[in-house]
Amino acid sequence: MTQGRRTGNPKTTLFSPLRHQVRHCRDSPGARSSNQLPLANPSANHLIPQPLFSGGDEAYSNQECLGKKEKKPERRIMAQFQPLILSTWDFGREANQAGWDILVRGGTALDAVEAGARAVESNPEITSVGYGGYPNEMGVVQLDAAIIDGKTGRMGAVAALEGIRNPISVARKVLEKNRHIFLVGAGAKSFALREGFREENLNTPQSVRWYAEQLPQSQQNAGHDTVGILARDARGDMAVACSTSGLALKWCGRVGDSPLIGAGLYLDQAVGGAVGTGVGERAIEVCGAFAIVEFMRYGLSPQKACEQLLRRVAERNRNRLNFQLAFIALSREGETGAASLQEGFVFALRDSTRDHTAPSAVFGRDYP
Ligand code: ASP
Repeated sequence: MTQGRRTGNPKTTLFSPLRHQVRHCRDSPGARSSNQLPLANPSANHLIPQPLFSGGDEAYSNQECLGKKEKKPERRIMAQFQPLILSTWDFGREANQAGWDILVRGGTALDAVEAGARAVESNPEITSVGYGGYPNEMGVVQLDAAIIDGKTGRMGAVAALEGIRNPISVARKVLEKNRHIFLVGAGAKSFALREGFREENLNTPQSVRWYAEQLPQSQQNAGHDTVGILARDARGDMAVACSTSGLALKWCGRVGDSPLIGAGLYLDQAVGGAVGTGVGERAIEVCGAFAIVEFMRYGLSPQKACEQLLRRVAERNRNRLNFQLAFIALSREGETGAASLQEGFVFALRDSTRDHTAPSAVFGRDYP
Protein backbone atom coordinates (compact mmCIF):
# COMPACT_ATOMS: atom_id res chain seq x y z
CA MET A 1 0.00 0.00 0.00
CA THR A 2 0.97 3.53 -0.28
CA GLN A 3 2.68 5.98 1.98
CA GLY A 4 1.23 9.48 1.94
CA ARG A 5 3.58 12.42 1.62
CA ARG A 6 3.52 15.74 3.31
CA THR A 7 4.52 18.98 1.79
CA GLY A 8 5.61 22.06 3.66
CA ASN A 9 8.56 23.75 5.22
CA PRO A 10 11.15 21.06 5.87
CA LYS A 11 12.38 22.93 8.93
CA THR A 12 9.01 22.56 10.61
CA THR A 13 8.02 19.04 9.67
CA LEU A 14 8.90 16.10 11.89
CA PHE A 15 10.87 18.05 14.44
CA SER A 16 8.57 20.99 14.92
CA PRO A 17 8.96 22.30 18.49
CA LEU A 18 5.21 21.88 18.85
CA ARG A 19 5.57 18.13 18.77
CA HIS A 20 7.46 18.23 22.01
CA GLN A 21 5.07 20.68 23.58
CA VAL A 22 2.09 18.53 22.70
CA ARG A 23 3.75 15.53 24.31
CA HIS A 24 4.49 17.66 27.33
CA CYS A 25 0.82 18.63 27.52
CA ARG A 26 -0.32 15.03 27.28
CA ASP A 27 2.02 14.10 30.08
CA SER A 28 0.98 16.92 32.36
CA PRO A 29 -1.04 15.84 35.41
CA GLY A 30 -4.16 17.64 34.25
CA ALA A 31 -4.19 15.97 30.89
CA ARG A 32 -3.36 12.41 31.83
CA SER A 33 -5.21 10.47 34.44
CA SER A 34 -3.30 8.01 36.55
CA ASN A 35 -5.34 5.03 35.35
CA GLN A 36 -4.69 5.78 31.69
CA LEU A 37 -3.15 2.83 29.88
CA PRO A 38 0.39 3.34 28.63
CA LEU A 39 0.85 3.07 24.89
CA ALA A 40 1.68 -0.51 23.93
CA ASN A 41 4.00 0.91 21.34
CA PRO A 42 5.24 4.22 22.74
CA SER A 43 7.04 5.06 19.53
CA ALA A 44 3.66 5.28 17.76
CA ASN A 45 2.99 8.42 19.75
CA HIS A 46 6.10 10.06 18.33
CA LEU A 47 4.98 9.35 14.80
CA ILE A 48 1.79 11.34 15.00
CA PRO A 49 2.36 14.44 12.91
CA GLN A 50 1.03 17.57 14.49
CA PRO A 51 -0.37 20.55 12.62
CA LEU A 52 2.46 22.95 11.91
CA PHE A 53 2.22 26.43 13.29
CA SER A 54 4.06 29.68 12.75
CA GLY A 55 5.78 31.48 15.68
CA GLY A 56 4.57 31.63 19.29
CA ASP A 57 3.71 27.97 19.45
CA GLU A 58 4.69 27.43 23.06
CA ALA A 59 2.33 30.01 24.47
CA TYR A 60 -0.50 28.75 22.32
CA SER A 61 -0.15 25.04 22.93
CA ASN A 62 0.24 25.36 26.70
CA GLN A 63 -2.85 27.51 26.97
CA GLU A 64 -4.72 25.06 24.80
CA CYS A 65 -3.84 22.27 27.24
CA LEU A 66 -5.09 24.31 30.15
CA GLY A 67 -8.36 24.93 28.36
CA LYS A 68 -7.77 28.67 27.80
CA LYS A 69 -9.04 29.90 24.48
CA GLU A 70 -6.83 32.63 23.11
CA LYS A 71 -6.52 32.26 19.39
CA LYS A 72 -8.02 29.97 16.84
CA PRO A 73 -5.31 27.55 15.68
CA GLU A 74 -6.68 27.60 12.12
CA ARG A 75 -5.40 31.11 11.55
CA ARG A 76 -1.88 30.06 12.42
CA ILE A 77 -1.54 26.95 10.29
CA MET A 78 1.17 27.54 7.77
CA ALA A 79 2.33 24.20 6.41
CA GLN A 80 -0.21 21.86 4.91
CA PHE A 81 -0.99 18.19 4.80
CA GLN A 82 -1.35 16.38 1.51
CA PRO A 83 -5.10 15.87 0.86
CA LEU A 84 -6.11 12.32 0.12
CA ILE A 85 -9.35 10.40 -0.36
CA LEU A 86 -9.77 6.62 -0.22
CA SER A 87 -12.99 4.72 -0.99
CA THR A 88 -14.41 1.24 -1.38
CA TRP A 89 -15.10 -0.49 -4.70
CA ASP A 90 -14.97 0.71 -8.30
CA PHE A 91 -17.68 3.23 -7.63
CA GLY A 92 -15.30 4.69 -5.06
CA ARG A 93 -13.72 6.51 -7.97
CA GLU A 94 -16.92 8.44 -8.49
CA ALA A 95 -17.00 9.19 -4.77
CA ASN A 96 -13.35 10.26 -4.85
CA GLN A 97 -13.94 12.59 -7.78
CA ALA A 98 -16.72 14.43 -5.94
CA GLY A 99 -14.69 14.57 -2.73
CA TRP A 100 -11.46 15.56 -4.44
CA ASP A 101 -13.13 18.55 -6.10
CA ILE A 102 -13.76 19.82 -2.57
CA LEU A 103 -10.40 18.88 -1.06
CA VAL A 104 -8.41 20.46 -3.86
CA ARG A 105 -10.15 23.79 -3.29
CA GLY A 106 -9.19 23.70 0.38
CA GLY A 107 -12.52 22.28 1.58
CA THR A 108 -12.94 20.08 4.62
CA ALA A 109 -12.64 16.33 4.82
CA LEU A 110 -16.16 16.27 6.25
CA ASP A 111 -17.63 17.99 3.19
CA ALA A 112 -15.55 15.76 0.93
CA VAL A 113 -16.78 12.45 2.35
CA GLU A 114 -20.38 13.65 2.35
CA ALA A 115 -20.11 14.77 -1.28
CA GLY A 116 -18.49 11.45 -2.21
CA ALA A 117 -21.30 9.43 -0.65
CA ARG A 118 -23.97 11.67 -2.20
CA ALA A 119 -22.52 11.13 -5.67
CA VAL A 120 -22.84 7.37 -5.33
CA GLU A 121 -26.23 7.53 -3.60
CA SER A 122 -27.68 9.65 -6.39
CA ASN A 123 -26.49 7.38 -9.19
CA PRO A 124 -29.29 4.89 -10.04
CA GLU A 125 -26.81 2.70 -11.90
CA ILE A 126 -25.16 1.85 -8.59
CA THR A 127 -27.62 -0.68 -7.24
CA SER A 128 -26.38 -1.17 -3.69
CA VAL A 129 -26.45 2.42 -2.43
CA GLY A 130 -29.10 5.16 -2.25
CA TYR A 131 -31.54 5.80 -5.07
CA GLY A 132 -32.12 2.55 -6.99
CA GLY A 133 -30.54 0.55 -4.14
CA TYR A 134 -31.42 -3.07 -3.40
CA PRO A 135 -34.95 -3.55 -2.01
CA ASN A 136 -35.58 -5.59 1.15
CA GLU A 137 -37.80 -8.69 1.32
CA MET A 138 -40.91 -6.51 0.98
CA GLY A 139 -39.58 -4.65 -2.05
CA VAL A 140 -38.85 -1.51 -0.01
CA VAL A 141 -35.49 0.29 -0.16
CA GLN A 142 -34.26 0.87 3.42
CA LEU A 143 -31.01 2.81 3.62
CA ASP A 144 -28.21 3.00 6.21
CA ALA A 145 -25.54 5.72 6.42
CA ALA A 146 -23.13 7.26 8.91
CA ILE A 147 -20.53 10.00 9.08
CA ILE A 148 -17.80 10.99 11.58
CA ASP A 149 -15.97 14.32 11.74
CA GLY A 150 -12.44 13.75 13.02
CA LYS A 151 -11.90 17.41 13.84
CA THR A 152 -14.78 17.70 16.31
CA GLY A 153 -15.28 14.02 17.08
CA ARG A 154 -18.98 14.39 16.22
CA MET A 155 -20.94 11.58 14.63
CA GLY A 156 -24.28 11.06 12.93
CA ALA A 157 -26.04 7.95 11.65
CA VAL A 158 -29.36 6.80 10.23
CA ALA A 159 -30.67 3.30 9.61
CA ALA A 160 -33.64 1.69 7.86
CA LEU A 161 -34.43 5.09 6.40
CA GLU A 162 -37.05 5.00 3.62
CA GLY A 163 -37.85 7.48 0.88
CA ILE A 164 -34.81 9.77 1.16
CA ARG A 165 -32.28 9.66 -1.65
CA ASN A 166 -29.26 10.92 0.30
CA PRO A 167 -29.22 9.32 3.75
CA ILE A 168 -25.63 10.51 4.26
CA SER A 169 -26.86 14.11 4.35
CA VAL A 170 -29.50 13.16 6.91
CA ALA A 171 -26.71 11.56 8.97
CA ARG A 172 -24.72 14.78 8.57
CA LYS A 173 -27.70 16.77 9.89
CA VAL A 174 -27.85 14.47 12.91
CA LEU A 175 -24.14 15.15 13.44
CA GLU A 176 -24.66 18.91 13.17
CA LYS A 177 -27.62 18.99 15.56
CA ASN A 178 -25.29 17.24 18.02
CA ARG A 179 -28.10 16.11 20.30
CA HIS A 180 -28.34 12.44 19.32
CA ILE A 181 -26.09 10.24 17.22
CA PHE A 182 -28.29 7.56 15.72
CA LEU A 183 -31.85 7.79 14.33
CA VAL A 184 -33.69 4.83 12.82
CA GLY A 185 -36.75 3.99 10.75
CA ALA A 186 -39.80 6.22 11.00
CA GLY A 187 -38.04 8.55 13.43
CA ALA A 188 -35.15 9.07 11.04
CA LYS A 189 -37.58 9.78 8.24
CA SER A 190 -39.63 12.32 10.17
CA PHE A 191 -36.39 14.04 11.24
CA ALA A 192 -35.32 14.21 7.58
CA LEU A 193 -38.66 15.64 6.48
CA ARG A 194 -38.55 18.20 9.30
CA GLU A 195 -35.11 19.23 8.11
CA GLY A 196 -36.42 19.83 4.57
CA PHE A 197 -35.38 16.62 2.79
CA ARG A 198 -37.72 15.60 -0.01
CA GLU A 199 -39.48 12.25 0.06
CA GLU A 200 -39.36 10.21 -3.12
CA ASN A 201 -39.74 6.68 -4.42
CA LEU A 202 -36.28 5.10 -4.33
CA ASN A 203 -37.27 2.14 -6.53
CA THR A 204 -36.17 2.55 -10.13
CA PRO A 205 -37.71 0.55 -13.01
CA GLN A 206 -34.50 -1.50 -12.93
CA SER A 207 -34.77 -2.32 -9.21
CA VAL A 208 -38.47 -3.20 -9.54
CA ARG A 209 -37.61 -5.61 -12.35
CA TRP A 210 -34.74 -7.08 -10.36
CA TYR A 211 -36.98 -7.63 -7.33
CA ALA A 212 -39.65 -9.37 -9.42
CA GLU A 213 -37.04 -11.75 -10.81
CA GLN A 214 -35.41 -12.50 -7.44
CA LEU A 215 -38.47 -13.00 -5.35
CA PRO A 216 -39.33 -16.61 -6.23
CA GLN A 217 -35.94 -17.82 -4.96
CA SER A 218 -35.68 -15.20 -2.18
CA GLN A 219 -31.93 -15.80 -2.07
CA GLN A 220 -29.85 -14.98 0.94
CA ASN A 221 -27.20 -12.33 0.29
CA ALA A 222 -28.43 -11.75 -3.25
CA GLY A 223 -26.25 -8.65 -3.47
CA HIS A 224 -24.72 -5.95 -1.33
CA ASP A 225 -21.96 -3.33 -1.27
CA THR A 226 -21.25 -0.14 0.65
CA VAL A 227 -19.57 3.03 -0.39
CA GLY A 228 -17.10 3.82 2.40
CA ILE A 229 -14.96 6.94 2.16
CA LEU A 230 -12.03 8.17 4.23
CA ALA A 231 -10.49 11.59 3.63
CA ARG A 232 -7.79 13.84 5.00
CA ASP A 233 -7.86 17.50 4.08
CA ALA A 234 -5.08 20.06 3.72
CA ARG A 235 -5.32 20.96 7.40
CA GLY A 236 -4.77 17.37 8.39
CA ASP A 237 -8.38 16.94 9.53
CA MET A 238 -10.00 13.63 8.72
CA ALA A 239 -13.53 12.33 8.14
CA VAL A 240 -15.21 9.06 7.26
CA ALA A 241 -18.62 8.28 5.78
CA CYS A 242 -20.47 5.28 4.47
CA SER A 243 -23.80 4.55 2.83
CA THR A 244 -25.60 1.41 1.67
CA SER A 245 -28.93 -0.26 1.01
CA GLY A 246 -27.51 -3.22 2.94
CA LEU A 247 -28.14 -6.82 2.01
CA ALA A 248 -30.55 -7.30 -0.88
CA LEU A 249 -33.85 -8.89 0.23
CA LYS A 250 -32.91 -8.39 3.88
CA TRP A 251 -35.60 -8.72 6.52
CA CYS A 252 -37.59 -5.57 7.16
CA GLY A 253 -35.77 -3.48 9.75
CA ARG A 254 -32.47 -5.35 9.43
CA VAL A 255 -29.57 -3.00 10.11
CA GLY A 256 -26.06 -3.92 9.06
CA ASP A 257 -22.67 -2.72 10.21
CA SER A 258 -22.55 0.41 8.06
CA PRO A 259 -24.42 2.85 10.31
CA LEU A 260 -23.05 1.32 13.52
CA ILE A 261 -20.22 3.45 14.85
CA GLY A 262 -17.34 1.11 15.61
CA ALA A 263 -18.60 -1.76 13.46
CA GLY A 264 -18.82 -0.39 9.90
CA LEU A 265 -16.79 2.76 10.44
CA TYR A 266 -14.66 4.46 13.03
CA LEU A 267 -12.31 7.41 13.22
CA ASP A 268 -10.09 8.88 15.88
CA GLN A 269 -8.17 11.66 14.26
CA ALA A 270 -5.21 11.19 16.61
CA VAL A 271 -4.70 7.82 14.95
CA GLY A 272 -6.76 7.34 11.78
CA GLY A 273 -9.93 5.72 10.55
CA ALA A 274 -11.39 2.61 8.95
CA VAL A 275 -14.54 1.68 7.05
CA GLY A 276 -15.83 -1.65 5.81
CA THR A 277 -17.98 -3.41 3.27
CA GLY A 278 -19.33 -6.93 3.04
CA VAL A 279 -21.63 -9.02 5.20
CA GLY A 280 -22.35 -6.62 8.01
CA GLU A 281 -23.28 -9.21 10.61
CA ARG A 282 -19.71 -10.51 10.56
CA ALA A 283 -18.29 -7.00 11.02
CA ILE A 284 -20.65 -6.24 13.92
CA GLU A 285 -19.53 -9.36 15.77
CA VAL A 286 -15.97 -8.06 16.05
CA CYS A 287 -16.55 -4.27 16.20
CA GLY A 288 -14.50 -4.30 13.00
CA ALA A 289 -13.68 -0.67 12.28
CA PHE A 290 -13.04 0.17 15.93
CA ALA A 291 -10.70 -2.79 16.29
CA ILE A 292 -8.71 -1.69 13.25
CA VAL A 293 -8.25 1.82 14.62
CA GLU A 294 -7.19 0.40 17.98
CA PHE A 295 -4.67 -1.88 16.27
CA MET A 296 -3.30 1.23 14.56
CA ARG A 297 -3.19 3.09 17.86
CA TYR A 298 -1.00 0.35 19.26
CA GLY A 299 1.43 0.52 16.40
CA LEU A 300 0.16 -1.53 13.43
CA SER A 301 0.15 0.04 9.98
CA PRO A 302 -3.29 0.52 8.38
CA GLN A 303 -2.55 -2.43 6.11
CA LYS A 304 -1.52 -4.76 8.93
CA ALA A 305 -4.42 -3.56 11.06
CA CYS A 306 -6.99 -4.46 8.34
CA GLU A 307 -5.35 -7.86 7.89
CA GLN A 308 -5.26 -8.52 11.63
CA LEU A 309 -8.96 -7.80 12.00
CA LEU A 310 -9.92 -9.99 9.04
CA ARG A 311 -7.76 -12.77 10.42
CA ARG A 312 -9.88 -12.59 13.57
CA VAL A 313 -13.08 -12.75 11.49
CA ALA A 314 -11.72 -15.74 9.57
CA GLU A 315 -10.87 -17.48 12.84
CA ARG A 316 -14.39 -16.93 14.21
CA ASN A 317 -15.94 -18.26 11.00
CA ARG A 318 -13.56 -21.12 10.22
CA ASN A 319 -16.33 -23.46 9.09
CA ARG A 320 -18.30 -21.01 6.98
CA LEU A 321 -15.80 -18.66 5.40
CA ASN A 322 -17.84 -18.18 2.24
CA PHE A 323 -18.71 -14.51 2.60
CA GLN A 324 -17.00 -11.28 1.66
CA LEU A 325 -15.81 -8.74 4.17
CA ALA A 326 -13.31 -5.99 3.39
CA PHE A 327 -11.91 -2.93 5.15
CA ILE A 328 -9.96 0.10 4.10
CA ALA A 329 -8.01 2.26 6.56
CA LEU A 330 -6.19 5.58 6.56
CA SER A 331 -3.76 6.82 9.18
CA ARG A 332 -3.34 10.41 10.22
CA GLU A 333 0.01 10.31 8.43
CA GLY A 334 -1.74 9.45 5.14
CA GLU A 335 -0.74 5.81 5.02
CA THR A 336 -3.45 3.57 3.54
CA GLY A 337 -4.48 -0.06 3.95
CA ALA A 338 -7.00 -2.39 2.28
CA ALA A 339 -7.71 -6.07 2.85
CA SER A 340 -10.54 -8.50 2.13
CA LEU A 341 -11.51 -12.06 2.93
CA GLN A 342 -12.32 -12.97 -0.69
CA GLU A 343 -11.00 -11.91 -4.07
CA GLY A 344 -12.82 -9.22 -6.00
CA PHE A 345 -12.62 -6.25 -3.64
CA VAL A 346 -10.98 -3.12 -4.98
CA PHE A 347 -10.34 0.26 -3.38
CA ALA A 348 -10.12 3.66 -5.07
CA LEU A 349 -7.44 6.19 -4.15
CA ARG A 350 -7.13 9.83 -5.14
CA ASP A 351 -4.47 12.34 -4.20
CA SER A 352 -2.44 14.95 -6.06
CA THR A 353 -0.57 12.34 -8.11
CA ARG A 354 -2.83 9.27 -8.14
CA ASP A 355 -6.37 8.49 -9.26
CA HIS A 356 -6.82 4.76 -9.52
CA THR A 357 -8.45 1.60 -8.28
CA ALA A 358 -6.46 -1.43 -7.13
CA PRO A 359 -7.23 -4.84 -5.66
CA SER A 360 -6.81 -5.27 -1.92
CA ALA A 361 -4.72 -7.92 -0.20
CA VAL A 362 -6.75 -11.15 0.03
CA PHE A 363 -6.86 -13.48 3.05
CA GLY A 364 -5.03 -16.77 2.44
CA ARG A 365 -3.38 -15.47 -0.70
CA ASP A 366 -1.58 -12.30 0.33
CA TYR A 367 -1.71 -12.70 4.09
CA PRO A 368 -2.25 -15.80 6.26
N1 ASP B 1 -21.96 -3.98 4.99
C1 ASP B 1 -23.21 -3.82 4.31
C2 ASP B 1 -24.31 -4.40 5.16
O1 ASP B 1 -24.14 -5.46 5.71
C3 ASP B 1 -23.24 -4.43 2.94
C4 ASP B 1 -21.97 -4.34 2.13
O2 ASP B 1 -21.17 -3.46 2.34
O3 ASP B 1 -21.73 -5.18 1.27
O4 ASP B 1 -25.35 -3.81 5.24
